[in-house]
Amino acid sequence: MTTQFKNEALVDFSKPENKKMMEAALAKVESRFGREYPIIIGNEDVTTPQKIRSSNPSNKNQFVGIAQKGTVDLAEKALGAAWKAFETWKNTPAADRANYLFKIASIMRDRKFELAATMVLEDGKSWVEADADVAEAIDFCDFYGREALRYAEEQPVVAWPGEKNELVYLPLGVGVVLPPWNFPLAILAGMTTAAIVTGNTVILKPASDTPVIAARFMEIVQEAKVPAGVVNFLTGSGADVGEMLISHPKVRFITFTGSREVGLHIVEEAGKTKHGQIWIKRVIAEMGGKDAIIVDEEADIDAAVEGVAGSAYGFQGQKCSACSRAIVSEKIYDEFLEKLVTRVKKITVGPVKDFSNYMGPVSSQSAFDKIMGYIETGKKEGRLVCGGEAASGNGFFIQPTIFADVKPTARIAQEEIFGPVLAVIKAKDFDHALEIANGTQYGLTGAVYTKNQQKIEKARREFFAGNLYINRKCTGAMVGVQPFGGFNMSGTDSKAGGRDYLLLFLQAKSICERLI
Ligand code: NAP
Ligand code: MG
Repeated sequence: MTTQFKNEALVDFSKPENKKMMEAALAKVESRFGREYPIIIGNEDVTTPQKIRSSNPSNKNQFVGIAQKGTVDLAEKALGAAWKAFETWKNTPAADRANYLFKIASIMRDRKFELAATMVLEDGKSWVEADADVAEAIDFCDFYGREALRYAEEQPVVAWPGEKNELVYLPLGVGVVLPPWNFPLAILAGMTTAAIVTGNTVILKPASDTPVIAARFMEIVQEAKVPAGVVNFLTGSGADVGEMLISHPKVRFITFTGSREVGLHIVEEAGKTKHGQIWIKRVIAEMGGKDAIIVDEEADIDAAVEGVAGSAYGFQGQKCSACSRAIVSEKIYDEFLEKLVTRVKKITVGPVKDFSNYMGPVSSQSAFDKIMGYIETGKKEGRLVCGGEAASGNGFFIQPTIFADVKPTARIAQEEIFGPVLAVIKAKDFDHALEIANGTQYGLTGAVYTKNQQKIEKARREFFAGNLYINRKCTGAMVGVQPFGGFNMSGTDSKAGGRDYLLLFLQAKSICERLI
């Protein structure tokens, strides 16, 4: 009997034994620096002449590992392996498929320090953020496993005399999984396991910035004895093998999490019917955000300062849910801003191997350049009150940055920067604040700080965000508790970690038998 789903507990690093385990895990991951990881198609390991070198964003001289650079020929081969495996996997009982997910979750739980340490060194996550990423990955497996059992149960249909009617859910076929680097374990594991637990087989093409943590996940999939060909692991460039796969006629669905630009491109390409294609491709695309926190004059200002700082600078602002706009009532604007600046100036920035650094590096040179470009734009569009420069060190470090007096229509108030840059915007009143909050093309997360119940009710109705939080920060959604996903240009309106999610990987068949 499967127990009820429960979220994985987070590690308390103030306990010396946990700190020790993390230090040991970091040393272990460092001892494996420079190791090479194969592409895995069916049960075959493949190496390629061209490689992807994954570096440590906290220390540009360190290479965490070397991955293969997949080719379109290998992508074609992976498609063949996935379709072959689909023939048996689609008929594997849901209970067996769910058990593979529970096994993957259990191996991840045993290895949580090592997985977290890998993300500290490959992705620049602080210990706390890396641990939360692992916990979320475990939760996805445990949650989707149980969900698959629910979808396999007898589904309710209306009774009709003389007939036996039923509705069953079938998998779609072969899909492509395209995760981002910013939750390189949780989102990768969530999208992959949701796809396979429902009977599909996949080609998993991880983000090129984080192939090592992806390879670790694939090792766990193999250790859990998921049959060969169910998950085919193909590292390579999105623009190259990714592009080939999204436009291939033999791909049935694409599950993507990443930028708006790439997401829209995928929706467009997947919409073109290719020669030999016999279905309409399904695309699940989770994209960016320009998430806002409204701070009303009737708010607990200290709590709001804490919530904004945590949401804006946790993982260097590189969460799709990160707060990049604080919309503040003019009645408390000066007080809030002053307190926020004081709070943010206390944030430590540096290599995240060191537990005492709250903020680490941004993900890559290109991310660094893009964010520094936005900071230059911000200097023209707002009043720089904190940060605004690179921080010292041999990595991609940027100071936590605040621009005040930003117009709602400014570029830094409209475009996703995906870094530690916050625009503070003044609002005349609560309605004005809501109007500003809703005034972008995105609709992912949002929060409101106020003690006024009427305003809370209004926000519930009118704040158009997929994930709305009241009197708390706008990051840190938990699987099952706050199903996650946004509106408008934030994606295809799906909810990862929610009861509807597995339906995206299924199609329903209605069967009617005349009783004779
Ligand atoms: P990205 O550049 O769009 O890449 C995402 C994935 O797509 C990567 O695996 C990438 O491979 C691949 N890709 C790139 N071009 C492709 C193409 N032409 N065809 C097929 N695949 C292609 O996004 P990112 O920089 O990794 O992630 C950051 C973004 O993700 C932000 O915008 C953030 O808001 C968003 N995000 C959204 C959510 C959500 O739930 N809504 C959650 C997390 C992140 P390569 O790495 O090889 O280029
Ligand atoms: Mg890297």
